[in-house]
Amino acid sequence: MAPGPVVDRTAQNVERVSQDLRSVYSSGKTKSVEWRVSQLKSLLRITTHYEKDILEALRSDLNKPELEAFSHEVYGVSSSCELALKELHRWMMPEKVKTSMINFPSTGEIVSEPLGVVLVISTWNYPFKLSLDPVIGAIAAGNAVVLKPSEVAPATSSLMSNLLGEYMDPSAVKVVEGGVPETTALLEQKWDKIFYTGNSKIGRIILTAAAKHLTPVVLELGGKCPVVVDSNIDLKVAARRIISGKWACNSGQTCVSPDYIVTTKEYALKLVDALSCELENFYGKDPLLSNDLSSIINSRHFDRLTKLLDDEKVSGKVVIGGQRDRDKLKIAPTVLLDVSQDSLVMNEEIFGPLLPIVTVAKIEESIGLINTKEKPLAAYMFTNDKKLKEEFIRSVSAGGMCINEIALHLAEHTLPFGGVGESGMGAYHGKFSFDAFSHKKPVLQRGFNGDVAARYPPYTPWKLKF
Ligand code: NAD
Repeated sequence: MAPGPVVDRTAQNVERVSQDLRSVYSSGKTKSVEWRVSQLKSLLRITTHYEKDILEALRSDLNKPELEAFSHEVYGVSSSCELALKELHRWMMPEKVKTSMINFPSTGEIVSEPLGVVLVISTWNYPFKLSLDPVIGAIAAGNAVVLKPSEVAPATSSLMSNLLGEYMDPSAVKVVEGGVPETTALLEQKWDKIFYTGNSKIGRIILTAAAKHLTPVVLELGGKCPVVVDSNIDLKVAARRIISGKWACNSGQTCVSPDYIVTTKEYALKLVDALSCELENFYGKDPLLSNDLSSIINSRHFDRLTKLLDDEKVSGKVVIGGQRDRDKLKIAPTVLLDVSQDSLVMNEEIFGPLLPIVTVAKIEESIGLINTKEKPLAAYMFTNDKKLKEEFIRSVSAGGMCINEIALHLAEHTLPFGGVGESGMGAYHGKFSFDAFSHKKPVLQRGFNGDVAARYPPYTPWKLKF
């Protein structure tokens, strides 16, 4: 018997999902404040009732230590839900604005309206938080939403699919699991916003697909996040904070983790000593045995990272760590000193537990060096020099910054979180998440009095005098 035509069930299913959501959105259901509140409450309940299952899934996908998994992921999502529930009425209120004499008498306001049916495509490194944080923004703003979690963290993806399927409104909040074929099929549909977190190569695919339907996008991408370390600092505190933002954040598999350090030739060895001492305090003499260090997500990424380490241009540069265990997918916290700018490790985002230190003659040169690279998602400086700090803030373009800290800017819901240039576009967190999924509709209202004849044709000479 001749084979029948190949039917792409993925594409068919996905098309149905998007059509169903569009008809639910058109009914107005998701716009009501009651619906938004009920969905946010359900999500909050998931984080409390299923905390153990979430931690287990994160352990299975990333061997994430419980404290990191709880604080970065479970608490990250529950606190976003709580904030949205507390602030929702205020966020939804039209913002009154002043109007000018040209429109006198009139009133002006900016009304936040939902965009419609939105797609969230997420990544694997914080698979719970980075999937659900955007979903919270989408729901708070009154949209119907499809979440496509990362197939690279399968346990968390499957758990979210089950829990959201059971506890959220299935007619307006859907999870589509899968990899490239499913995402490709989703991207063929028309969406009112696409919110993507992942690498910039796929970011370009997302942007191209979005262009077809003129769909606006948020792209949360990555990059090489620099840390400048000046010599006039509390070195112990700086070393602890660098370690915390690098290795205690998912073994460096974090978009805002330090990617490389810039310091002076003179200071570098002191910094290496401080990092070495604090790393031993945190992870013991053999960090591969520590339960407080996440694993590398899979063998593909393990091999990618060891390739960076085995690059001949890096040979002899390892000053801390370097141990690895492919069976356990573990790489020790590894510091490289004085690597050349043309080494692999200095030319791609590391996204793992390797940390090169680059040296300059004078610390002021660090700014020029950083600016030879693409704009990073985050940039950091440790200094007590006010002038240098101000120059850094003024001259380095990055998605976000911390001075004398690492990564903590993203824990502040009053600060927008997102990239610039190669590290992405758009931002979220707190009210910025609500705004990312809203159209800001300007509304001008007038009565019928105060009508001025001078604005209407015919444009006789006396009218030009106005
Ligand atoms: P990933 O492999 O999970 O991919 C991300 C998503 O893209 C997944 O849902 C995947 O299914 C989808 N995808 C993969 N290939 C695709 C294709 N050909 N077409 C369409 N969709 C496709 O994650 P990743 O890219 O390895 O994530 C790591 C990157 O993400 C790093 O660059 C990191 O810096 C960045 N990141 C950024 C943020 C941020 O908030 N800015 C947060 C975390 C990670």
